[in-house]
Amino acid sequence: MANWDQLGQELEQLKEQGRYRPLSVWQSGSGTWMKIGGRRVLQMSSNNYLGFTDHPAIKQAAIDAIEQYGAGSGSVRTITGTLSIHEQLELELAKFKQTEAVLVFQSGFTTNQGVLGSILGEKDIVISDALNHASIIDGIRLTRAAREIYAHKDMDQLEALLKRSSGYEKRVVVTDGVFSMDGDIAPLPAIVELAEKYDAFVYVDDAHASGVLGKNGKGSTDHFGLHGRVHIQVGTLSKAIGVVGGYVACSQVLKDYLIHKARPFLFSTSAPPAVAAACLAAIQVLGQSSELTDRLWNNTNSFRAALQAIGFDTGVSETPIIPIIVGDAASTMKFSDRLLEEGICAQGIVYPTVAADKGRVRLIVTAKHTDEDLQFATRVLQKVGQEFGLV
Ligand code: PMP
Repeated sequence: MANWDQLGQELEQLKEQGRYRPLSVWQSGSGTWMKIGGRRVLQMSSNNYLGFTDHPAIKQAAIDAIEQYGAGSGSVRTITGTLSIHEQLELELAKFKQTEAVLVFQSGFTTNQGVLGSILGEKDIVISDALNHASIIDGIRLTRAAREIYAHKDMDQLEALLKRSSGYEKRVVVTDGVFSMDGDIAPLPAIVELAEKYDAFVYVDDAHASGVLGKNGKGSTDHFGLHGRVHIQVGTLSKAIGVVGGYVACSQVLKDYLIHKARPFLFSTSAPPAVAAACLAAIQVLGQSSELTDRLWNNTNSFRAALQAIGFDTGVSETPIIPIIVGDAASTMKFSDRLLEEGICAQGIVYPTVAADKGRVRLIVTAKHTDEDLQFATRVLQKVGQEFGLV
């Protein structure tokens, strides 16, 4: 009993700090306008960048796959859980990413755990950006490798750490492609140059760059024209792709190694056929036209400019992730609650996810927001921003 009491006390502390968040329950799918408590609310917190959760061809592919293969895969990939639809998805993804091979995992989170957890040993060193995602941090924790953190995007510090790391067998530099809390882009060309100078591998997590950056959303490697120079590209199928899952785009050798060593891959049942088929259809839709990614970027650039013109601090955002910096945790959560009352879902993000005085609401623009949607959002944000003295 004593242990449970302690958990309850920790929850009380979170409440006192304004950091306790009950789950919001939505009464509709993850489209642009969603229903909560019987009200319609403009969705500006979803990672559904291209509206694929609701795309007719993608939904139909899922339905057809259930008819053809059934509801579940029935096994882990290494026993009987590799169906032809999984293989097709990996082949299509490898073509899309322009890499030799792709291996699909159950989520982006388990991809980082599986890849980092199996490629790094005690004779290796991993050097990681301070603002990398939790799944990278946890993946590194699973290894016996030495680890160093460089200040966010600080290339001088990265170089100093690489210089000092010559005694290790493998050196791996890990970065998010797009940082999920600030929406800024990693300096991948500089990272690649340093890695080449000091004989290190480059590992990029493109969770928020896949479907967003590069030609037709091919990711940060394509955006910077670095094909062949980034050794490991992780992506997720749960954000722009609109379904669920993760993948690593890499060499055939690394794929074969991971099939034998990556524990989340080896010991967890593979994606249901409907999931694999929907992801495959999404990649095909992406490959056919740049209409949606163009629309995403037009929306992003015009909305961010409108917020800045009103006087909001949007931090260092360069992508559809646009934070509005509010300040302390309590004000940030109040700001987010007021926006919801006025019809906008904008997630509040506070310490310890971000610095204590840098609490923010994080707005995510999608290709599916109409001009009217974004004008509505701008009007509401201006009104509530004035109430809070932010503009
Ligand atoms: N990496 C980054 C940078 C992310 O933002 C996320 C999602 N929050 C993940 C990995 C995990 O992806 P998934 O949701 O597919 O597990």
